[in-house]
Amino acid sequence: MYKESQIYKPFELAKVMDYKTISLYKYVSLDEPEVLKEKLRNYCEALDILGRILLGKEGINAAISGKKENIEKFKQLLKKDKRLADLTFRELEAEKNTYHKLVVRVRKEIVVFGKEVSFKNKAPYITPKKLKMLLDKKTDAILLDARNSYEIKLGKFKNAITLPIETFREFPEAIKKAKLPKNKPIISYCTGGIRCEKAATYLKQQGFKEVYQLKGGIIQYMNEFPNTYFEGNCFVFDDSLTPSLKVKPITTCDICHATSDVMINCHNLECDKLFICCPTCQTKTKKHCSPACEKAPRHRP
Ligand SMILES: [Zn+2]
Ligand SMILES: [Zn+2]
Repeated sequence: MYKESQIYKPFELAKVMDYKTISLYKYVSLDEPEVLKEKLRNYCEALDILGRILLGKEGINAAISGKKENIEKFKQLLKKDKRLADLTFRELEAEKNTYHKLVVRVRKEIVVFGKEVSFKNKAPYITPKKLKMLLDKKTDAILLDARNSYEIKLGKFKNAITLPIETFREFPEAIKKAKLPKNKPIISYCTGGIRCEKAATYLKQQGFKEVYQLKGGIIQYMNEFPNTYFEGNCFVFDDSLTPSLKVKPITTCDICHATSDVMINCHNLECDKLFICCPTCQTKTKKHCSPACEKAPRHRP
């Protein structure tokens, strides 16, 4: 008989992370987005880069993946355009391409808001470090969550003001109703910063005297200060761009009520409801929110 320790165990194969997934955005005046669109599409095709790039007269918003060296080349090509020279990127290594096709489009807005926002007079940034300092000092500034209700359900900054919105497009109307004081400092935040850059700048336009936007959003803040003032988890639309963060869930499974912060869409295509479902219940219900949905005719593959 061999003891357990004497049995030969092959080394586990290390994952080869040859790919990268990156995201980027910038609000910047782009005169001829159609011209840039053709250029970027050509770069992506030549470099085997997949993902989604949105362009508009107000800027660029993209999430793409490809071989590491090709992503580096693409970044350099982008930065050759003077308007994009100071772009910053959120990056994560990957084993393979995260995206399965390439979509390059010109849209009226790179994030749908429905109201004209002029970025000539942007709301200034506040760093996670500065925000943490202010919260330590019990600042009387208003923390404003610019995200949707279902995201806020998973977690938010302690004492933040939230709006009852299902989409970002509802933000302007909800702000009108919220009647926040115009002379108090407001710090707005969202997941990665792209929404609150628009929201905060819009608030300035609406006459709010002192408005800031959290640089890098919740993701950057949680990386620097995990479990400090941000309670619960951060909802993300795209897992492939977000390193997993160790946080204490504040929510429970909608089915068995055990502590969980896993949010999924119901796999009944007619329902598609976002709900919290722990791993055990995911197996039991095959990712459905109710027995009726389990019996429905059309399901996600
Ligand atoms: Zn459960
Ligand atoms: Zn359902």
